[in-house]
Amino acid sequence: MEHDKQNGPIRRVVIAGGGTAGWMAAAALSRTLGKVLDIKLVESDEIGTVGVGEATIPSLVHFHRLLDIDEREFMAATQATFKLGISFENWRARGEDYIHSFGLTGTDHWSAGFQHFWHKGRERGLAHDYGDYCLELLAARENRFAHLPKDGLNYAYHLDATRYARYLRRFSEHFGVERIEAKIAAVEKNEASGHIAALRLDSGSRVEGDLFIDCTGFRSLLLGQALGVEYEDWSRWLFNDSAIALQTESTGPVVPYTRAIAHDWGWQWRIGLQGRVGNGIVFSSRHVDDDTARAALLANVQGKKLTEPRTIRFRPGQRKQVWAANCIGMGLASGFLEPIESTSIHLIQRAIVRLLQLFPTHGIHQTDIDEYNAQAAEDIRTIRDFIILHYKVTNRRDTPYWEAAATMDVPESLRHRIALFRDTGRVFRLQNELFAENSWVQVMLGQGMMPATHHHTADLMGDEELSGFLEGIRANVRRTASQLPQHGDYVARYCPAK
Ligand code: FAD
Repeated sequence: MEHDKQNGPIRRVVIAGGGTAGWMAAAALSRTLGKVLDIKLVESDEIGTVGVGEATIPSLVHFHRLLDIDEREFMAATQATFKLGISFENWRARGEDYIHSFGLTGTDHWSAGFQHFWHKGRERGLAHDYGDYCLELLAARENRFAHLPKDGLNYAYHLDATRYARYLRRFSEHFGVERIEAKIAAVEKNEASGHIAALRLDSGSRVEGDLFIDCTGFRSLLLGQALGVEYEDWSRWLFNDSAIALQTESTGPVVPYTRAIAHDWGWQWRIGLQGRVGNGIVFSSRHVDDDTARAALLANVQGKKLTEPRTIRFRPGQRKQVWAANCIGMGLASGFLEPIESTSIHLIQRAIVRLLQLFPTHGIHQTDIDEYNAQAAEDIRTIRDFIILHYKVTNRRDTPYWEAAATMDVPESLRHRIALFRDTGRVFRLQNELFAENSWVQVMLGQGMMPATHHHTADLMGDEELSGFLEGIRANVRRTASQLPQHGDYVARYCPAK
């Protein structure tokens, strides 16, 4: 079908912006299609990058495999450490915590998830803490890590965002990407087609292209400003709109999990890298002022300050189309969900892989644009629901912020999932959804929800059989975890920072 094709072949790709999004896109495109594309990336040192975004999820491991990136080299270059999950402190209630880990809890069963057997065991006094049946979770709790030869730990990284962009820049330049250091002064459009024709730079030169990737961060210079694509605002569900970030020296052993510590009007992150810690506080400016948030952050960091606290404003949501005309927005230029589940870098990666799958080599078809936008919208909507869950389901009612979160109306898609779990303990992963059943269950139980009942399959087991089943898993998890080295020792041996 040629009738919806909008222009000629795509040979020249221009990436606007060189943060994590820009350089990830450059790396992947040059590694896979570098021989047939002319790729240029424009970035401005003066404007700089957002400079945060240091916690990832396991999909990044696969992204690096796709690019053939050497893990030790990448980790040493980015002061990276391993991550097995996120510790949610004070979220369910003050003084209580739980870990959402990347691992599988228990085992899979054709008819019912492990939570049903655990729930039955709990009723009968035969089950321990839900986390005791998950290797990644126990390893995180005990500060242990190693690559295992078979059925290894499911892990991600904590990394230095600035170093990561620098690392990917070297990688991309090696595969032929041309970097242009300049400020984009204007975006030239072809009035007839509505397509972007070129970027005009403050140096006076022009960079023409067939396809433009907007990675200009919150500015969204191409997609938002030049093409006028509207933004869908989700702040009625996600109240936070500000963050203050700060780096400190390391003080103790570096843990293999992100800490997310709830405050009265937001939450604080702590991310341990090799040699330093990334800290920040995310908050709702409707519920607290900047000075109070900054003071709370400073009172809760350990170690000498390495940077001054920096305030960042954002609006939770997503552009109504992330691909419009010949421009695709990636990273912050396309939308933003607060970093509570470290999903932004993953969304960049998804955007890149989707583009590779739908790459318009012979010209842009409206059908490709529609497919891309539909997939992107589905991706972020399911993640959005998962993030809202952390606020909606809480026992906290102690401040106006938590009261408002617990009592808000949530999207219908989420309302149904919460009700289904509450009534029956059931969770179903949607088609291409990022977070699997295991994540939903860990967070729902962790936030204080307990299903009313469980699947009848669990009732078919007698006490002895159920107890043996649960104990077998628990003992195996304990045995494997106890053989793992301390995370910090492993990192120091495996990939010492350069
Ligand atoms: P930026 O880093 O802002 O890069 C924009 C680029 O565009 C820069 O190179 C800039 O110089 C360039 N640019 C802009 N305007 C111009 C111009 N006129 N001319 C030339 N160049 C220009 N994600 C995670 O996955 N995990 C996390 O833990 C996490 N934590 C976060 C915490 C906070 C508080 C925030 C705000 C975000 C967090 N994110 C996290 C998101 C993550 O930081 C971003 O997804 C990631 O850094 C990508 O940013 P970017 O490349 O889109 O934008």
